[in-house]
Amino acid sequence: MSDEPKIRPAITDLPTYKAGKKVAGVSGLDPYKLSSNENPTQPLPGVLKAIADAALEINRYPDPFVTELTNALAKKFNVAPEMIATGTGSVGVCQQIMQAVAGSGDEVIYAWRSFEAYPIITKIVGAKPVEVPITKSGEHDLAAMLNAITEKTRLILICTPNNPTGSVVNREELKAFLTKVPKDILVVIDEAYVEFNRDDKSVKGLDFLREFTNVGVLRTFSKAYGLASLRVGFFIGPEHVAEAVRKTAVPFGVSNIAQVAAVASLEFEDELFVRVEELVQLRTWFESQLSEMGFNLPPSQANFVWLPLGDRVDEFTAACATQAVAVRPFSGEGVRISIGEKSALERLLKVLPDFV
Ligand SMILES: *Cc1c(COP(=O)(O)O)cnc(C)c1O
Repeated sequence: MSDEPKIRPAITDLPTYKAGKKVAGVSGLDPYKLSSNENPTQPLPGVLKAIADAALEINRYPDPFVTELTNALAKKFNVAPEMIATGTGSVGVCQQIMQAVAGSGDEVIYAWRSFEAYPIITKIVGAKPVEVPITKSGEHDLAAMLNAITEKTRLILICTPNNPTGSVVNREELKAFLTKVPKDILVVIDEAYVEFNRDDKSVKGLDFLREFTNVGVLRTFSKAYGLASLRVGFFIGPEHVAEAVRKTAVPFGVSNIAQVAAVASLEFEDELFVRVEELVQLRTWFESQLSEMGFNLPPSQANFVWLPLGDRVDEFTAACATQAVAVRPFSGEGVRISIGEKSALERLLKVLPDFV
């Protein structure tokens, strides 16, 4: 008998979370964080006002059904409110989805490398991650993903644009894929970066909702809408799935402040999307700088770029730190650089030539 409380093996096996290291101060340089794909701009005044007004009510529990936001989203996307489920960021919603469809002994298929939360939440619910390697150019290998389906498969995650490679899934290819996936397997298209995507041949998940009864879409207010700290995301999909996803939500998880900020952000979307377009232009500029240097990279459709630097990842990360810029290293594979402040990207241009 152990002399301490037992933890489920699925949980003890998870890596212990290490908070992203802040870059050490470099004298004379303001530090920049290009490691979490955040929106670099402050909230719009109208959004701040909604938050300030809502702050007067934080002694009250929020609306457990997140009604106002749900209705605003239903209107925006022209779907029934019953098809929507909200949660604490789309990572929170993704966990709700897993809890709703997969458990011990079940399998969850996703591309790898992709979003780091996928293996963690798959293991938390006790299901088995089935990771299908991405292609050399960083794309989903849909044929291999089809081959990975078994009787135990309950969920397939498609991340487009993919974090961290920035590549998108082609619409026709995904359509062909979906026609072959058994209808009792849920396919979730994670579109955390869809607002930055300018490739018109790529998937827009919502287009598939009417055609396929086993497809849902995951969206977030954390990236383009700049509300990362408020934790609000949502699922749109078949009504009975959305209902199940609402059942697994953390009670009162979406705060009233998060809800009003999200509703106000939808209201001021035109202004926000001007900022998104500026980030897209900045990405185009940064990518052209990289290609002038001699990098040969597939284009990114997200608010980050991926440099497959292999065994030079740690060296490059250290070089960025000398410029007081934090990037996101994946040792031995590559580095993800968020498209944030232009002055931060300009600093990186000083160290990048050594790594072509
Ligand atoms: C950032 C990100 C999310 C969103 O996370 P939130 O929990 O909404 O902040 C979801 N999926 C992917 C692939 C991401 O990169």
